[in-house]
Amino acid sequence: MSVTRHTPSPQPHWVVNMNRRNRSLSFVAAFLTLASHVWLQGLSPWLYPTLAVSFLVWPQLAYLRARRSADSMHSEFNNLVIDSIIFGLWIAGLGFPVWITFILAISITMNLTVFRGLPGMVQAMAGLAGGIVAGGLFVGFWWQPGTHWLTTVLAISSISMYLLMVGHVSFSRNHSLHGARERQRQTEQELKQQIEENRQLQEQLREQANRDPLTGLYNRRYLEDSLHREMTRCLRQGDPLSLVLIDLDHFKSVNDRYGHSAGDLVINQLASVLSALSRASDIVCRFGGEEFLVVLPGTGLEAAEARAEDYRRMFEKTPVAVGDNLLSVTLSAGVACSYREIPPDDLIRQADLALYEAKEAGRNRVACRAPWTSEPQSA
Ligand code: GH3
Ligand code: MG
Ligand code: MG
Repeated sequence: MSVTRHTPSPQPHWVVNMNRRNRSLSFVAAFLTLASHVWLQGLSPWLYPTLAVSFLVWPQLAYLRARRSADSMHSEFNNLVIDSIIFGLWIAGLGFPVWITFILAISITMNLTVFRGLPGMVQAMAGLAGGIVAGGLFVGFWWQPGTHWLTTVLAISSISMYLLMVGHVSFSRNHSLHGARERQRQTEQELKQQIEENRQLQEQLREQANRDPLTGLYNRRYLEDSLHREMTRCLRQGDPLSLVLIDLDHFKSVNDRYGHSAGDLVINQLASVLSALSRASDIVCRFGGEEFLVVLPGTGLEAAEARAEDYRRMFEKTPVAVGDNLLSVTLSAGVACSYREIPPDDLIRQADLALYEAKEAGRNRVACRAPWTSEPQSA
């Protein structure tokens, strides 16, 4: 047989703590009001200890009960229903004094309504009615609606204090909820910002991985990824695709005479020329040391050759300043073109063969290979 034990919750619900304070305070006020009535109406002195148990001891027992419960919130709700029964008992026991009936009934009904809405209101009324019936059956139903002015003043003060307390609790609750919402909004904002920064960083890293650090042009890795894709796209649309492979002429001697950093300046100069003369849809990349490859999607052989000529002429006309010297370096270019899908490496090889021809023919010139149309041609 299994035994279910209720383990006390380590930290009672905040409502339990709030109710302990509010119940203790408002019950002291109720105790004073009711005690004044018993005294001023000359009722039985036995009522004082009963009043003390109801209004001074019970709030502490109620707190302990909720605190020890596994579900402190549920227990606190039951405490409020017990409050309403106790109030009903006193209302009937004292003969329905109007002011006392009013403050006890309105305060407990309001409390349970705040706690549970309309069902709470109904439960408060049911508790009060139950208490009244039990009280009436116990001491007999009797009627004494009047209160001494002092009791009336105490009753008005008690209910005023209670209402102000409810107002204050509502305000502080609203205030802290607003603060929590604001903090949550800020955290969300920070999180969004972090996600955006991460996204930008990832994009930056992806971009860096595709770029050559010296020139900022695309690198060979990017070319390998994109050349096949571009070729498929062009040929699907029935367009040709051309390659221009470029190599600096006698570049070794530039390095030898002017140093490696002067050589870098020349490489950068060529990168600028290629970028300036290319379209947004072209892919300009640094293919190797001082070799560059430009992919020209949708460009036939003649247009590609013209473009290579533009590169050559422009580069020849823009010497690079190195110290007091103006270096005029030239380039050779090989052009290849295809109208059908072939392995990208085959097209690059054709461009390389054309470049070799340009070098052989004396450098500073452009050479072309016949375009691929239907069948692959042999080298
Ligand atoms: P050719 O006209 O036949 O092409 O003669 P070349 O001297 O240019 O010969 P090659 O193309 O074989 O020479 C490549 C040189 O490019 C060798 C290497 O030192 C230089 N090089 C490669 N990468 C870089 C670089 O990043 N910076 C510099 N400054 N030089 C580089
Ligand atoms: Mg070379
Ligand atoms: Mg070279």
